[in-house]
Order: sequence, then C-alpha cells, then structure tokens
Amino acid sequence: MILETHLIPEGHSTQHGLADLEKLKEDLPSISRKMECRLEIDRCGPTIFLHIWFTGEFKIECARCLDLFPFTVEGDFRAVLKEVSGKSGRSLDDDVADFYFNDRDDKVDLSPLLYEEIQTAFPLMPLCSSECKGIVVNDSDISIEYEPGKKEQFKGIDPRWDALRKLKQN
Ligand SMILES: [Zn+2]
Repeated sequence: MILETHLIPEGHSTQHGLADLEKLKEDLPSISRKMECRLEIDRCGPTIFLHIWFTGEFKIECARCLDLFPFTVEGDFRAVLKEVSGKSGRSLDDDVADFYFNDRDDKVDLSPLLYEEIQTAFPLMPLCSSECKGIVVNDSDISIEYEPGKKEQFKGIDPRWDALRKLKQN
C-alpha cells in the first residue's frame, strides 16, 4: 500500500484501496480475497495523520482439527508521516513519526506496518468452530481408556490358566 504524499491535499481527505501484500505474502497464510483498506487522512503542512481500517479474508488452520477455514482479519491503526529533508522510509529512531518523506522521495509504503497489524490480528488458537471436536478417529483398533486403571478385558488365552486347565483334564 503506497501513498503518494504529493497527491494528499491539505486538510481532511479519504482514500480506499486494495493493499498490495505481494512482497510479504510468503509469511502470511493464503489470502482468499485482497486486503481492503480505508484511510482517513488529515494533513497539516509537512505532517500527515492517518487512521487506517483494514479487512481481508485468509485461510488458516484450525488448532483442533487442522482443517483450513476462512477467517476474516480486520482492525485499524494510526500512523504519522512527516516531511523531513534528507529522510525517507520507516522511522526507527524516535516516535515523532512512523514514516518520513521528502520532496525527492515522496512515496510512502505502508505495507510493513500493515503487515505487523495483520499478524497481531490473528487468534493464538484459531478454531473453525467453537464446537470443533478435533480430529475424528474411526480406526476400531484404537481404544481409549476412559477410566484410569480400568482397561479393556484381555480377549486372548491367558497362559496363566494353563495349569488350571491341566488339573481339570486330569
Ligand atoms: Zn476444527
């Protein structure tokens, strides 16, 4: 999502757009729909205040059944852009601005910040449904011990009965 700061008028304005996450998508789950963004912009000379809302659908893995399911990620964040001669790109030094631009380099790529916000919007334990029962096991060979210590009866011939059987035969 690249903002061309020379096109942003003084005062209040709005922008809508689709975020370009092409460069970052390798680290994110697959996107079934592009990220939609809405920006409320307030410009006061060299300083641009942004309030950004984003929404997009991702395919993520359920923590219980491991199936992929569509999950809508949405949120909002604020950012400040400041025109400073000789400075451009992400601000790392102070908290006056998140990004700098100047008359030679007036394009600001908000993707790194958007990417961070998207990542924090994902649930720690995603579930396809609150009712999800997890992986369904149909194999009859697997038995579960429901009560501790109460195991299923042994169905084969226990060799310990051999002595008793010999007595009976005699
Ligand atoms: Zn599930």
